[in-house]
Amino acid sequence: MTVLELRGVTAGYGSAAAVRDLDLTVAAGEVVALLGPNGAGKTTTLRAAVGLIRPRSGEVLALGRAVDRRVDRTARHGVVLVPDSRAIFSGLSVRDNLRLAARRSGPRWDSALERLPRLAPLVDRRVGLLSGGEQQMLALAKALLMQPRVLLVDELSMGLAPVAVQELLPVVRGLAADLGVGVLLVEQHVDLALGVSDRGLVLHHGRAVLEAPAAELLADRDAVHRAYFGAD
Ligand code: ATP
Repeated sequence: MTVLELRGVTAGYGSAAAVRDLDLTVAAGEVVALLGPNGAGKTTTLRAAVGLIRPRSGEVLALGRAVDRRVDRTARHGVVLVPDSRAIFSGLSVRDNLRLAARRSGPRWDSALERLPRLAPLVDRRVGLLSGGEQQMLALAKALLMQPRVLLVDELSMGLAPVAVQELLPVVRGLAADLGVGVLLVEQHVDLALGVSDRGLVLHHGRAVLEAPAAELLADRDAVHRAYFGAD
């Protein structure tokens, strides 16, 4: 079952198109890696997918309905963005951050710790004192409390060492495998991203220039490299 579909989406800022004529689908239980160099349009794609920006043309369907600009409503339906800037209250404790997130959605605040047990001993710590990786874990935990069915993950690894990324990405994979969440994963660490994905799509100057099963892309890194640099 397709949970997210972009059909011929062109979107951008002012008169500049950052994403051009993009077709993309994500099925329930599937992880799709959205790859490409800086400025290729990855974040713009995620923003269009949740309704933060309106496509200039084309359409976005999530869970069978058209995505509009009512982002809160879309999130309540289970289409959830984990932004790259850590959307957390740094003066509050981990527990209070999770409580605030849970109050808006329903599940107990500590249910998120089942998938992120490394946060458990940190619940009383002020978020400002967490490491970057721990903050990303918290951002993911907050997204989980929204009970996502479609999860859009923007550079979980921002500023993190690959070892921290290696810990977080399997959590994302687990959501797809165990709960049937459809995941669109933006990630700079190409091999790590493809390692937990079913398919990969490379954007270059806003266009999809390569799309294939993740295993094929891992086996043909030259093709990925060429797509990154626009040689295809
Ligand atoms: P990165 O890997 O660097 O985060 P990206 O692939 O996510 O890049 P986008 O953030 O989607 O790329 O940006 C695509 C293009 O749109 C870039 O040329 C960028 O400068 C431009 N852009 C992004 N956000 C805005 C904005 N708010 N206003 C104007 N232009 C923007």
